[in-house]
Amino acid sequence: MTHYHQYQRISENKDGIVEICKICNKRLVTRKDKDGRIDNQVYAREHIADIAQPTGPTAHIFVKLYGKPKV
Ligand SMILES: [Zn+2]
Repeated sequence: MTHYHQYQRISENKDGIVEICKICNKRLVTRKDKDGRIDNQVYAREHIADIAQPTGPTAHIFVKLYGKPKV
């Protein structure tokens, strides 16, 4: 079954962030560049479950995860 990964942050240092999905135990390593920044586009795609909103372009993901928002 496919799912949206729900990552839990395990550790973070100057090289990057290590996270593990609570559902499938996938390990995600997000590397930081020399200025300590991460690639936000990649990060957002992997963390879509965390940033899904009840309205707008991520609404269908929100509904899948949390059900229809109560109005
Ligand atoms: Zn997962």
